Amino acid sequence: MSAYDFDLFVIGGGSGGVRCARIAATHGARVGVAEERFWGGTCVNVGCVPKKIMVQAAEYGIWAEEAGAFGWDISRNAHHWPVLKQARDAEVTRLSGIYGRLLGNAGVTSFDARATFVDAHTLDVGGKRVTAERIVIATGGHALRPEIPGAELGMISDDLFTLEEMPRRIAVVGGGYIALEFASLLNGLGAQVELLYRQPLPLRGFDQDVREAMRDALDARGIVQHIGHEVTGLEKVAEGLRVSTTGGATCMVDAVMFATGRKPNTQGLNLEAAGIAPGRLGAIPVDGQQATQQPHIFAVGDVTDQMNLTPVATAQGHALADTLFGGQARTVSLANVPTAVFTVPPAATVGLTEEEAMLGGPIDIYLTRFTPMRHTISKQPRRTLMKLVVARDTQRVVGAHMIGDDAAEMMQGIAVAMVAGATKQDFDRTIGIHPTAAEEFVTLR
Ligand code: FAD
Ligand code: NDP
Repeated sequence: MSAYDFDLFVIGGGSGGVRCARIAATHGARVGVAEERFWGGTCVNVGCVPKKIMVQAAEYGIWAEEAGAFGWDISRNAHHWPVLKQARDAEVTRLSGIYGRLLGNAGVTSFDARATFVDAHTLDVGGKRVTAERIVIATGGHALRPEIPGAELGMISDDLFTLEEMPRRIAVVGGGYIALEFASLLNGLGAQVELLYRQPLPLRGFDQDVREAMRDALDARGIVQHIGHEVTGLEKVAEGLRVSTTGGATCMVDAVMFATGRKPNTQGLNLEAAGIAPGRLGAIPVDGQQATQQPHIFAVGDVTDQMNLTPVATAQGHALADTLFGGQARTVSLANVPTAVFTVPPAATVGLTEEEAMLGGPIDIYLTRFTPMRHTISKQPRRTLMKLVVARDTQRVVGAHMIGDDAAEMMQGIAVAMVAGATKQDFDRTIGIHPTAAEEFVTLR
């Protein structure tokens, strides 16, 4: 019998923590988990899930705009935000409850409390001392506001989900995933959206062609982009909120949302008591097995600030539980992780950008831009871009990029092919599904 209260204690009941706790318990470990805010964490409560519901709401409005061209007599009337909020919140509550129940069913002991380190094997969990042989830090991250005058007048993405009414005019600050997704969904729901980002193009780190196409797609949807502008301050005036920028441009809106990056939740964990020194932005450094500087303390998900995506957090939590208690040592590769930006139209990507691939040797690029059939009829300026990056020597497809309807749904399958090491010839000898946009991926020449 172990001298500790638990074989494993997980701090944080989000995507990574819940998966790790649940799988460890099914392997027979005695597991405890503490969650201070909401079971299911960011993704379920203030991230992927409620965001995607709002994206879908926006898509209905856009389809209604386009349906006339297909003969439907559907008029796009006002959107009722409170109806959407109620449906969305109900779904979030349902899913969060499922997360809590999954833990109970697996035999995990759950604590609705904050956990902090007392020493390397002891935690304070809501005022109670708990010991564990192994500990997993899965505390996620939180949104950052820029340090500018009036920053407190702006919202972060969490706040958007609490609004009872949609702001009529909103400025979204940032050029990353969250900024673009919220700018796009709010635009689709009928708000006047101004997007301010400091780079020449949105989505730094994505393929250049996708970035340019995204700028044009947002423009085509009527989102006003203040490009290359950093916000210098917010001020409350009679007409609303005035947003000032380095370029001297200002905009007047009803609300501002900052989507200017996130920071790992490590402050106040008392990491020093556990002998762990956080790295950049407070992230917890880990090795390929998710181990921290202390071999019995691990970290998974956003708190490690590697690839801040739900499937990465869950894969890391699952692999760690299998390794520690399942007799099956596994690691998670961060190569070829597919990802999507849920704008209208969405962008999706897997593997290397053209710019990254060029650093590794000669490459071939296969690219197509076209108007999909739906939009030749709808007459909406919605272009699709698809691109494959191929290593010339091996002919392996090392990058796939797309912006266009259903990009996220398509990219999952492309990722399977790339993880399996598919070459351009494998793509070429694959028969397409006709008529689809997806078939373009196997007919690129
Ligand atoms: P989290 O899910 O953040 O869970 C950490 C949990 O730990 C939280 O519930 C927190 O309350 C708890 N906690 C923190 N400190 C303590 C403590 N000391 N004691 C007890 N509990 C503690 N990813 C995607 O893949 N697809 C998407 O479409 C997507 N959309 C997103 C949209 C938004 C607006 C945001 C903000 C994120 C989105 N993400 C998306 C990212 C995704 O939500 C995260 O990558 C994922 O939630 C990370 O899981 P995690 O377990 O590491 O952390
Ligand atoms: P990102 O890192 O994607 O983007 C942050 C943006 O904020 C960048 O455009 C950055 O500009 C800008 N920025 C940072 N600081 C400032 C500042 N002081 N003033 C102005 N702009 C600033 O972070 P997000 O917050 O959008 O999202 C966090 C993470 O969550 C994502 O990286 C992703 O991993 C995950 N996520 C995933 C989603 C999905 O899978 N669909 C959806 C939402 C989030 P610059 O480029 O110049 O640094």
